[in-house]
Amino acid sequence: MQTVTLIKGDGIGPAIMTQAVKIIDAAGAKITWEEAYAGMAAYEKYGTPIPEATLASIDRNRVAFKGPLTTAVGGEGFRSINVELRKKYDLYANVRPAKSWAGVNTRYSDIDLVIVRENTEGLYAGLEHFLTPKRDIAESLAVVTRQGSQRIVEYAFNYAREHKREKVTVCHKANILKYTQGMFLEVAREVAAKFPDIEFDEKIIDAACMHMVMNPYQFDVVVTTNMFGDILSDLTAGLVGGLGLIPGANIGADAALFEAVHGSAPDIADKNIANPTAVIMAGIMMLDHLQEHETARRIQTALEKVVAEGENVTPDLNPQAGVTTDVMGQAIIAAME
Ligand code: NAD
Repeated sequence: MQTVTLIKGDGIGPAIMTQAVKIIDAAGAKITWEEAYAGMAAYEKYGTPIPEATLASIDRNRVAFKGPLTTAVGGEGFRSINVELRKKYDLYANVRPAKSWAGVNTRYSDIDLVIVRENTEGLYAGLEHFLTPKRDIAESLAVVTRQGSQRIVEYAFNYAREHKREKVTVCHKANILKYTQGMFLEVAREVAAKFPDIEFDEKIIDAACMHMVMNPYQFDVVVTTNMFGDILSDLTAGLVGGLGLIPGANIGADAALFEAVHGSAPDIADKNIANPTAVIMAGIMMLDHLQEHETARRIQTALEKVVAEGENVTPDLNPQAGVTTDVMGQAIIAAME
């Protein structure tokens, strides 16, 4: 039995995570859940967005399954707990697969690519301040290290090898940001030379966005710095049917945290219509991480069946027949039986 820290999160989090946990349990996973709190829910309950008990739980278990957390926009409120957790546990690789789904109509079919985003450095290092007492000039520091660049690019190439993928594309802005992005690109080229069996390509990030929309099939594994990866992975979500479908694994050397790419969706919170697919997919990635491959495939097959049939799915997937989050969860459990 593996104990996993369970953080249901804010907004739509509790609804989708409750279904994901029920499905993982029904599939027979050897997991004991240890519930903990973070984000707005924790702030309201304990006066802090990240209570000590939550950190102690992750310290013990080293694996967490997390719903989305609300972060206030702009200068008010607490800093992003997502960023804090990624930095605290050095979860340097953020893996976000985007795959077409049978039954989900989009502009493209048969898309199958993976964004590997550097998760602890770059512009999201959180080094921001005002330069003047009037607070009318603000500065953000992008920190890129050779060691951080090397380990994420190596992660991308090793991932490609392990998952029988053929190509790694590095996306960068080395033409303008000559030191931070320039070093990232230089390191990527050095690492690529050590993986002659994997094709290597490089694209400037703005052009990459255009290429991704015009011809996504030229991408396989994409590796990039923190903010570019954040933005590009939402773009890839749009290619395969939206944010309700894309999971993310945050992987470090000795800890891992699994979540959806999407946020707490305050616009649909409390309506019981959020799509649980992304967090279920995150749960599948977690089961693979825990070597519970059979259980993972059982859930994936059932989920794919329910989505393909298009009857018991939430309104984002089928505006006509859209069912509640709970009904979709029950349908996935029924499909496993
Ligand atoms: P969002 O991802 O919450 O929502 C964007 C849009 O996608 C909304 O229209 C929403 O209704 C829709 N959507 C998202 N998930 C969905 C689902 N499962 N099913 C159906 N529709 C879904 O992004 P936002 O509105 O920019 O952010 C809301 C809050 O979430 C913010 O506080 C933000 O900081 C936070 N956030 C947290 C995480 C995280 O915890 N990892 C990630 C992104 C954003």
